[in-house]
Amino acid sequence: GLVLGIESSCDETAAALVDGDRRIIAQRIASQDDAHRPYGGVVPEIAARAHSERLTPLIAATLADAGLALRDVDAVAATAGPGLIGGVMVGLVTAKALAMAADKPLIAINHLEGHALSPRLADPTLRFPYLLLLVSGGHCQILRVDGVGRYRRLATTIDDALGEAFDKTAKILGLGFPGGPAVERIAATGDAAKLKLPRPLLGSAEPHFSFAGLKSAVLRAHDANIHAPADIAASFQQAAIDCVIDRTHRALADADGVMALVVAGGVAANRSVRAALEALAAQHGLPFVAPPLALCTDNAAMIAWAGIERLALPGFVPDPLDLAARPRWPLDPAAAPVRGAGV
Ligand code: ATP
Ligand code: MG
Ligand code: FE
Repeated sequence: GLVLGIESSCDETAAALVDGDRRIIAQRIASQDDAHRPYGGVVPEIAARAHSERLTPLIAATLADAGLALRDVDAVAATAGPGLIGGVMVGLVTAKALAMAADKPLIAINHLEGHALSPRLADPTLRFPYLLLLVSGGHCQILRVDGVGRYRRLATTIDDALGEAFDKTAKILGLGFPGGPAVERIAATGDAAKLKLPRPLLGSAEPHFSFAGLKSAVLRAHDANIHAPADIAASFQQAAIDCVIDRTHRALADADGVMALVVAGGVAANRSVRAALEALAAQHGLPFVAPPLALCTDNAAMIAWAGIERLALPGFVPDPLDLAARPRWPLDPAAAPVRGAGV
C-alpha cells in the first residue's frame, strides 16, 4: 500500500508518501515558526491561514518529488483532530477533496495516534503491547498500546503538558520560540546543581504528571536575578526528567507483558530525555524505542504511517466524506477524567 498523509493540526504544514514497507517515499514540512515568533506562541488564526495557503502546493510538490500522481496512492490520510480547529479543517477538507476527486479511501487520523504509532514506522521489530510515553506540546500521557486503535491511558497531566513546560520555561528565560530545542541547547551549558527546583508528584501512587509548580519555580528563580539562565534551564530540564522517569517507572510496575518502553511526541526529540528513558528501560530489562528526531515533532509521515496501519486492519472501512474535524479527541475515550486534566 501507498498512503498520502496530511498534517495541519498545529503550526507544521506537512505532506508525506509512505508505503507498507515503511519507506518514506517523499515528505515535505513547512514550519510556521517565523510567522508565530513575534507573538511568542502559535496564533490559531495565523496558523489556519498559513495552512490554507501552503497545503495544496505542498502536496503537489511532495507528489512531484516522488514522481507520482494522486492516482498512484491507495488512500489519503489526514489528521482530523485533536488540535487547532482551523488548521485541522484545512487538512481534512483538502484530504476529502483529493479522496473524492481521485476516488480513493479517506482515512481520518487522530494526531495522537500518529505520534503513538510513529515508533513502529522507524522500527519494524516493535511489537504490541508497548508502554508509550507520549510527550508533546499539548499532551503528557502514559498509554498502554495493545494494538492499532487499542490505547489505554494509564496517566495524564493534571495541569501542563511537558512540551508546554519547556515552552514556558523558554519564554521566561527569553529564549524565544519554539522553546523546547532552545532550552535543551542552553541547558547543555548550564549546571543543574546550582539550584534545586521542585519535582511535582514525585513518588505519588498514581502515575500522573504535574508541571505547573515547576514552571512557577522557574519564574521565581528567574525573577530572583541570581542565577544564570543556563543553570535555570539545566535545573528545570533535570527536574522535568526526574518527574518523567519516576512517573514512567511507576507505570511500568503495573504494565504486565509489555514488549518495550516507547517514547513519542515533540519532547521525545530531547536527547537528555531519551537517554534517561533508555536507562530506565534497561533497568526494567526492556528494549527502548524512540523515533528518529525528525519523526518526533509534528510531521506527515507519521500520519501516512497510521493510515498504512489502519488500511492493514481486517475489516478496514474508509471514513465518510462528511466526517467532522474534532478539536478534542482522546485516544482512550474510556479514560476517567482526572482532576484538572484535559483530554
Ligand atoms: P500535540 O501533539 O500534543 O497536539 P504539538 O503537535 O504542538 O502538540 P509536537 O510538535 O508533537 O506538539 O511537539 C512540540 C513540542 O515539543 C513543543 O512543546 C516543543 O517545545 C517540544 N520540543 C520539541 N523539541 C524539543 C526538545 N529538543 N526538547 C524539549 N522539548 C522539545
Ligand atoms: Mg511546531
Ligand atoms: Fe504533535
